[in-house]
Amino acid sequence: MAIPLHDYEAVVGAEVLDELRVLAGHLQGRRLQHINSTAAGGGVAEILTRMVPLMQELGVDTAWDVITGDQEFFAVTKAFHNALHGSPEVVTAAMLDHYRDIIDDNLNRITFTGDVVWIHDPQPAGLIKRRSEIGAKWVWRCHIDVSTPTSGVWEFLQPYVEQFDAAVFSMPAFARELRVPQYLVAPSIDPLSDKNKDLAPDEVERVVAQYGIDPGRPILTQVSRFDRLKDPLGVIAAYRIVRRRHDCQLVLAGGGASDDPEGQAVLDEVVAAAAGDPDIHVLLLPVFSDVVINALVRASTIVLQKSIKEGFGLTVTEAMWKRKPVIGGAVGGIKRQVLDGVTGFLVHSPEGAAQRAIQLLRDEELRRQLGENGHLHAKQNFLITRHIKDYLLLTLALDHLDEHLVYV
Ligand code: UDP
Repeated sequence: MAIPLHDYEAVVGAEVLDELRVLAGHLQGRRLQHINSTAAGGGVAEILTRMVPLMQELGVDTAWDVITGDQEFFAVTKAFHNALHGSPEVVTAAMLDHYRDIIDDNLNRITFTGDVVWIHDPQPAGLIKRRSEIGAKWVWRCHIDVSTPTSGVWEFLQPYVEQFDAAVFSMPAFARELRVPQYLVAPSIDPLSDKNKDLAPDEVERVVAQYGIDPGRPILTQVSRFDRLKDPLGVIAAYRIVRRRHDCQLVLAGGGASDDPEGQAVLDEVVAAAAGDPDIHVLLLPVFSDVVINALVRASTIVLQKSIKEGFGLTVTEAMWKRKPVIGGAVGGIKRQVLDGVTGFLVHSPEGAAQRAIQLLRDEELRRQLGENGHLHAKQNFLITRHIKDYLLLTLALDHLDEHLVYV
């Protein structure tokens, strides 16, 4: 659904939009091409779904392609993902061969039309191998924390990464020493998308009723892919501690992503852990359940994102935008969004999460204050207009990189 650019004026003001139009004007005649590994599910797809049409509306010719692969390929890239996040993983030579084969298939399938090619995350990074034939400038946009990997996955990826013109990370702490220039760009949410737009109270009530949730009792919610690094079992453990002291319900809402093969196994674990408690609502949502997720968050008393490892954790900003206090794991980009005691609380364990949840459940004024602060923090730092500005500036800056400088 197209949202006219001028609708954003009411949120961010006219000056911000004018600035974007000026920057976009400098990119006339240039084509940007984004490539990632899934069209739906997860933060990258969430951002590109909104960013690509807005860039086009600004007059910047922008395309989005998605690499394809078989189950085995996505099992390999999920192992990469987990290893880059520091989890122990076995990555064999045969797995690396399969990765290279699927990258070759994609090199034959995708039409490279961009003057600037933005490659998102490790999955499609190998496409860079044919950059000299394809031409264009290449940017590696890394959304995950690659600072403390296990196994040899980084050693496998680094030679690819160092062929890019630049690398972009979400947080300073995520970066590695590289022989290419590095930039920092935080992710963002679209305040007017179905996921985040204002909803009428009756729409929220309708969704809550549809899923059998009691609107009259407190609701703790975590929205996440069913992924162990999102720690859904830790959330259930926290909820059980809270329930000893305070009435509440728990909503664990999530779907899968086509590039995440572990979802079903994790969902099974979660369903088993929740069995027998009618106040735990495990909701497996189809893709594009944006209004439902929006309504569930708006109906919530507290939102959790108790990840053990995290890239950015867009769900945090999505909740802050809706003025919800957030209890977040003190990891990755969550630390940039949850300012401890200001926009929510950072925690290190199920017990810590439970203690903060009890504190918040007992203190309505604290919930209101943290929610208000969170909304302002999201507005000032994590909206899509700021993100587009950063990408436009970075694209322009690529013209001025000194090829003879070695960036170490
Ligand atoms: N999301 C969704 N449906 C789901 C689970 C998640 O639409 O069932 C969205 C969520 O609202 C957020 C994104 O997917 O916009 C997840 O991004 P995040 O950065 O939190 O985590 P990632 O999945 O990229 O690790």
